[in-house]
Amino acid sequence: MSMKQTPALDAARRQMRPGAIVRDGFLGADRRPLVDILDADDAAVKRLGYTHAALAGRMRELRAAGARGLGEAVCVPPHFEVRVDSVRGKLPCPFGHPGLYPKTNITVKNLAQGGRAITYTDLGIHMIEEHGFYEGRGARFRADPAELARILEPPRA
Ligand SMILES: [Zn+2]
Repeated sequence: MSMKQTPALDAARRQMRPGAIVRDGFLGADRRPLVDILDADDAAVKRLGYTHAALAGRMRELRAAGARGLGEAVCVPPHFEVRVDSVRGKLPCPFGHPGLYPKTNITVKNLAQGGRAITYTDLGIHMIEEHGFYEGRGARFRADPAELARILEPPRA
C-alpha cells in the first residue's frame, strides 16, 4: 500500500532542507517527494525480511553496548567494533515531534566483513523507528536499509 503526500509530510520536508535543522539537511541530493522516499525504503525493508522496529532495535542495542567505551571503540561479540561519540547539542525531529535528540554518532564496524562500517545517530534511530525514514540518497547520515541489515546483522523475527 502506498502512502500519500500530506500537509504533515510537506511540513517535514521543509524541516529537512539544508540549514533548517542541520546544515546539510536530511535529503542529500535526493529530489524525490518525501512520500516516495518513505515508500521505497519501506518496500526495501520488507524485501529484506525486516521491520523498521527490528532495524531500529538493533541500532539501539549496539549503541548501548558501544556506550560503555565512553568515546573509545568497544568490541561487541561476536565480531563488531562500536564507537559512540557524543557531540554537544541536541536536534529536534523534522517530523515535528516534541523533544530533542542528543547529537551522537554511533559507528559500527563489522570485523567479519573486512571492517565494513556504518555511522548513524540517535535522531536516525528515532526517525527509522517512528517514521520509517532513513534519510535521502546522498545524505550524510543516510542509513540505507540494505547496508544496515548487512552490517548490523539484526536477528529476523
Ligand atoms: Zn519524530
